[in-house]
Amino acid sequence: MIPKDAKDTKATKDTKGRPCAGSFGIVSFPSFVSFVSLVSSVSFAIACTTSSNATRVRRDGSQNVLLITIDTLRADAVGAYGNRSVATPWMDRLAAGGVRFTAAHASTVVTLPSHANILSGVYPFRHGVRENAGFRFPSNVDTIATVLKARGYRTAAFVSAFPLDARFGLTRGFDRYDDRFGKGETHAAFRVPERRGTDTVAAALAWIRAGADQPPWFAWVHLYEPHFPYLPPEPYASRFSDSPYLGEVSAADAALGPLLQPILGARDTRETLVIVTGDHGESLGEHGEMTHGLFAYEGTLHIPLIVYQPHLFEPRTIEEPVRHVDILPTILDALGAPIPSALDGRSLLALASGSAGGPAATYFESLSASINRGWAPLHGVARGSMKYIDLPIPELYNLASDPSESHDLAPSRPGEVRELQRLLAVLRTDDRRSRPERESAATREQLRSLGYVTGASTAKDHYTEADDPKRLIHIDRAIDEVVAQYQRGDLPGAIASAERVVQQRPDMPLSLVHLAFLYNEAGNHRRAANVIGRALALNPAAEDVAALAGAYLTESGQFDEAIARLSPYVRSAEPDVDVLIAYGVALASAGRRREALDVFNRARAADPGNGLPLINAATVYLMAGERDRAAAAFTEALAIDPTLARAHNGLGVIEAEQRNYRQALEHWRRAVELDPRDFETLFNIGDLLIRLGRSSEARPYWQKYLETAPPALEARDRDRVRRWLASNPP
Ligand SMILES: [Zn+2]
Repeated sequence: MIPKDAKDTKATKDTKGRPCAGSFGIVSFPSFVSFVSLVSSVSFAIACTTSSNATRVRRDGSQNVLLITIDTLRADAVGAYGNRSVATPWMDRLAAGGVRFTAAHASTVVTLPSHANILSGVYPFRHGVRENAGFRFPSNVDTIATVLKARGYRTAAFVSAFPLDARFGLTRGFDRYDDRFGKGETHAAFRVPERRGTDTVAAALAWIRAGADQPPWFAWVHLYEPHFPYLPPEPYASRFSDSPYLGEVSAADAALGPLLQPILGARDTRETLVIVTGDHGESLGEHGEMTHGLFAYEGTLHIPLIVYQPHLFEPRTIEEPVRHVDILPTILDALGAPIPSALDGRSLLALASGSAGGPAATYFESLSASINRGWAPLHGVARGSMKYIDLPIPELYNLASDPSESHDLAPSRPGEVRELQRLLAVLRTDDRRSRPERESAATREQLRSLGYVTGASTAKDHYTEADDPKRLIHIDRAIDEVVAQYQRGDLPGAIASAERVVQQRPDMPLSLVHLAFLYNEAGNHRRAANVIGRALALNPAAEDVAALAGAYLTESGQFDEAIARLSPYVRSAEPDVDVLIAYGVALASAGRRREALDVFNRARAADPGNGLPLINAATVYLMAGERDRAAAAFTEALAIDPTLARAHNGLGVIEAEQRNYRQALEHWRRAVELDPRDFETLFNIGDLLIRLGRSSEARPYWQKYLETAPPALEARDRDRVRRWLASNPP
């Protein structure tokens, strides 16, 4: 299975004897959007509305605000929402003492757009972020952070995974945006770099405590545990061996303990408004979908929403439908701050205080498959208990009588379908770019002049029933199988499966990206470069795919072609960090070291929390024989991110060259500890130990080398290692 918002992963390959050739990942999402016209109507300011029950609700402009988002959290996976298997004591305590909304919905089913909705209070067609990677939150739309910052709050975000990387633009308004989730993680194809919830919470707690006597704070804490793959830590792994997803939910809840304990224990001097929600749910096999990001059924759209502030709210359960976009206006209202009228959400304060709220429709969409695969886009609207899904084969459900959405009422109720279609059209009046153009006009012109824009595009003018994701779910499963085979270590099987998927539907950029990655892993760099070129032709706007194309061209020795392909992207106003890194590696490989170092400097400035530009700069120094500079850059990279295996690998090489074998071995052992599949370092350790006459120590490293080194790339060394192991029995 592939987590649908997990297709933006990192995979790196090191070069034996010298560390790293760049960091390139399976990043399957398209790129940059020019939002200006789209969002001009959204800027905060103008008229303000006030809550209808202003006199009855207490407000407090000096309280702290804690927003907790737990990734991939189904409403029915929480104890307070009726799940009897899971262990979520902290969320349950918040719900018991706060307001629990039983019918809360996300408007998107993947991470970045959902958080954009939550933070901005507007629907995706207004802020413009329709998918994970490839979109950036615009610089002229306000968020909880920008508004509270302007009100004198201290603000910080602590996020746990790559879809919320600083590069995607949610950083504005935060004094600190902590996205240290292991950006240099190697050998983790098809997996999103993430950090443990306990680490994220510890960082947040340290920040909160450091400013205890300062102005009120706003902290956003994002935990990633429940996201696929489900690998809960102990004791949850054993306790939930039948349902590792619930094990991850339990682990996420436990991680919140240190953060919530002081608030629930009322030990804090200042009151804190706590909001807990999930960014989207998880299908867990319902309707044929394993994870999320394809459909918009309740498994992925229905999320928990708990608001806790005992000084403002009595404990209550609210069954009225509410939405993610309501969170921002609710926070502002609770602080007594004016609520901008241009928001799609409304304050839930009156509802939470027991007053009746007027009905509000919920807009939702799922566009990932449309953007990455060329399938039909999914939009929809829910009003009351009726939910309409607008696809080539439309669907209508009554959630009150049919919560599992198994009886499609669309064929028998055409009148109701038409009515909800009209409502959806009204809601989407401002959705002028349902086919987002992700590259700037200038970039597009440059691509055209180089012959890269072929006119082909994943977005069609008309979609038929054959493009309906319901009809294509078997391809979704086939894509999941490709990833599962790769993760099981069956590279030839994964390649064969990926080739079949591409044959079935040749115009799917995502599958071409997968196939190219697999060819590259198998050592077939030239074929990888060709296939990734086809993916890029289908979607020239995708900076992440462009970065991969550059990387594969470089690995196949076509340095000048890599430089030519990447130049238009590098010249855009805000090039993607991975594009810059791939460009720098191509320049360095072509011998243009000075230019390469300049590019790595730019990458560093663009993403100061990312150690990879430094590692690549260090490699350039090392190749030029400038050991001291190389060592300094590797060391600086480790200061940014101590988990960067490749920095240890490089420092080991430098020490070994200077015959400081003890230090070399220390660094290399640390490198393989951090990245057990780093076969080049495994080889180096074994080789050095043998030369030092420590054969028995060398044996386990070379055994592991044989288990991990790909035969196609490592045939000669594998042979040597196998012969040595045979002639040196333990
Ligand atoms: Zn998510």
